[in-house]
Amino acid sequence: MPIPSQLLSECRQIVGERQVVTDSERLEPYGRDETPGLAPALPDAVVRPGSADEVSRVLRACSQHGVAVTPRGGGTGHSGGCVAVQGGVVLAFERMQRILEISADDLTADVEPGVVLQDLHAAVEERGLFYPPDPGSLDTCTLGGNVAENAGGPRALRYGVTRDYVLGLEIALPAGDRLRIGKRTVKGVSGYDLTSLIVGSEGTLAVITAVTLKLIPRPRSVATALVTFDSAATAAAAVSALFGRGILPRTLEYMDGRSIDAVRPTAPFRFPEQIDAALIVETDGDDDEATLAQLGRAVEILDRAGARSTLIAQDARQQRDLWTSRRGLTEATRKIRRIKIAEDIAVPRRRIPEALARVAALGERCGVLTAAYGHAGDGNLHVQILFDDEGQRPAVERLLHQVMAMAIELGGTLSGEHGIGIAKKKFMPLEHSAGALDLMRRLKRAFDPAGILNPGKIF
Ligand SMILES: Cc1cc2nc3c(=O)[nH]c(=O)nc-3n(C[C@H](O)[C@H](O)[C@H](O)COP(=O)(O)OP(=O)(O)OC[C@H]3O[C@@H](n4cnc5c(N)ncnc54)[C@H](O)[C@@H]3O)c2cc1C
Repeated sequence: MPIPSQLLSECRQIVGERQVVTDSERLEPYGRDETPGLAPALPDAVVRPGSADEVSRVLRACSQHGVAVTPRGGGTGHSGGCVAVQGGVVLAFERMQRILEISADDLTADVEPGVVLQDLHAAVEERGLFYPPDPGSLDTCTLGGNVAENAGGPRALRYGVTRDYVLGLEIALPAGDRLRIGKRTVKGVSGYDLTSLIVGSEGTLAVITAVTLKLIPRPRSVATALVTFDSAATAAAAVSALFGRGILPRTLEYMDGRSIDAVRPTAPFRFPEQIDAALIVETDGDDDEATLAQLGRAVEILDRAGARSTLIAQDARQQRDLWTSRRGLTEATRKIRRIKIAEDIAVPRRRIPEALARVAALGERCGVLTAAYGHAGDGNLHVQILFDDEGQRPAVERLLHQVMAMAIELGGTLSGEHGIGIAKKKFMPLEHSAGALDLMRRLKRAFDPAGILNPGKIF
């Protein structure tokens, strides 16, 4: 069904002529996100509201015409969440990028949903404050997308994920009603926790028009090391040894040999040759000596657990280079084979060695190449499934199913941080009972009885 021209004129009246895009060339970038291998789907129109009031009026108009609306932030998602698989309107937040307030007294920030995460980091750090969530896409993803996906990142190990920092939200329901939910205080027990329900709901329950975030004081010193290993098994066991000794670094990032080899040619520093795994370990605090001493203790434990070499970053540039290499893995592993599927399972920490070994064995058994990297400290592994040829698709599908089933069997989850979107919805019954899925569907209907908000996702 083509989108009614009456709706397009109403949207133009609300947001202005230039903020409604309908020509296919300009729609093209809105037809995809960063999910590897996902088929693009063009919306009928992109509407760019400039305020919460405009969001609510556009939603009301779409709901009156029964037209689907898909919210979109930076388009960096890894599960197809912002792709309008049923056409209709994409609601893009490029004009809602204001940081409304940073309060050093309350330790809060109020932002519009289109604020790019890196801009918030810079603004709060300038004032000696800290907003920890740090997905690798931080230079392009937005706070609206982060809240909708409950984004994590390397620092989640010590500081938690987006949900831990969202105090309150302004939302617009699919029929256009505007609500303020949550609080501005750290404590609060008053009614159901609607804020937590919206966090991670992947834009299927409500549109986020403003976010109140909790901030913390910025740690003044950070120490970083790259620790390498001869085998994935030794690295995985070393991670367990570290936690066994009660050390909690701020990051503990894992990369296997195949991932290292992929990023090596473009990495801004030289990885040691012939290594089969590496960890990036980072500690922080308010005192340089204590921070370095804590890193030293961590490295010593990893050493005793069989590390092959350790490189401690000597200055901010070397720290940046290590992280540039880590952040380059998403792109670099795309080049190993023609097609890549990136998975995002999470397992309880102590099951990491088993999960890594089983992924490799399952890949071999199915005859499909795999690589793995990720946030080993919190059990969140980005398993990469790599192949050249559509003829391998049946084996790939078999492998995918087995990897997901393994994650659940080990007490884990289908997605640590990338969400379900369209990419993983077929696996939902592996993790959730029929009763739980039914309750989720009923919640969806309570928020969105007409089913116009981001249809086709999660279920
Ligand atoms: C290189 C790279 C590295 C990454 N690393 C990480 C990582 O370390 N940790 C991690 O968690 N993720 C990571 N991601 C995934 C992705 O960046 C996150 O999921 C991010 O939160 C998406 O934000 P976005 O603004 O791009 O959202 P989009 O992709 O535009 O949208 C994501 C979802 O949010 C919804 N949405 C967007 N805005 C709103 C709104 N205002 N109201 C309601 N719903 C909305 C969309 O409908 C969609 O369902 C990475 C991605 C890339 C490309």
